[in-house]
Amino acid sequence: MKTVQLPDGEKVPALGIGTWMMGERANARKEEAESVRLGVELGLKLVDTAEMYGEGACESFLGEALAGLRDKVFLVSKVYPHNASRAGVIAACERSLKRLKTDRLDLYLLHWRGGVPLAETIIGFEHLKSQGKIRHWGVSNFDTDDMNELYETPGGEGCVTNQVLYNLTRRGPEWDLIPWLQQHEMPLMAYSPIEQGRIKTGGALAEIAAKHGAKPFQVALAWALRHPGNIVIPKASHPEHMRENAGARDITLDAEDIAKLDAAFPPPSRKRSLEML
Ligand code: NAP
Repeated sequence: MKTVQLPDGEKVPALGIGTWMMGERANARKEEAESVRLGVELGLKLVDTAEMYGEGACESFLGEALAGLRDKVFLVSKVYPHNASRAGVIAACERSLKRLKTDRLDLYLLHWRGGVPLAETIIGFEHLKSQGKIRHWGVSNFDTDDMNELYETPGGEGCVTNQVLYNLTRRGPEWDLIPWLQQHEMPLMAYSPIEQGRIKTGGALAEIAAKHGAKPFQVALAWALRHPGNIVIPKASHPEHMRENAGARDITLDAEDIAKLDAAFPPPSRKRSLEML
């Protein structure tokens, strides 16, 4: 099983499960739960959610979908920036734990930068860590200058990951953010790795997929997984999609494939501000 090492040496699965928009429609919940449980069974044992998703509905859904599986997964949730004050982050975490029917999060992320000073959020995160309510903390949607500011803030080096938009059509982080993360031995967590299903599946992706006896989205995921420091969290409400995505771990792209993808989806030639979905 491909794993990625956090700065403290703990290993987590490189391919995980995204859950945005799960648990929001009553008639879809059964299939979504089947899909999440299948993913865990197939080894995608990192599950990403957030208090924002359905305003708690997604966490509540996971509390049920992961019944009996909690101890097998590395569970990630995120705090809203407006809840990220010293006391707010603690209260928000308690609410998430209750909805998720668990006593701890494996990783708690600041969803994006807001008005609360980073120092306050870090104190809240460290308090939660000392109480055993969270095991690690990190950030999301932080560009390189935000990471520098975080590292200049007392306790900032406790951050273990940065979750950002990264896929074949969103390669901006390669300019200076990914080098920054690599220099600090901090994994990148790639969200929307198939651009919410919108990546063009013809051309280079189709050709490379045919060569590997695979599907185009599997190639896009294999590409996102190609760096040893990347954690990739596709979302699949349908079990057949989940199974297909799990198969991406078996694909190793060669230099010719990578060159073809670079031509079709060029890497950045200048700094661009970090994009968000
Ligand atoms: P995504 O994973 O790139 O794409 C999900 C879409 O692709 C869904 O419509 C899904 O369909 C479809 N899909 C998945 N596998 C497929 C396959 N094998 N074949 C065909 N279609 C497939 O987009 P995302 O949900 O935006 O991103 C993934 C996760 O990242 C989120 O769920 C969330 O956990 C996280 N995220 C974080 C942030 C942040 O600000 N930190 C922002 C966005 C997302 P079905 O669901 O119908 O199967």
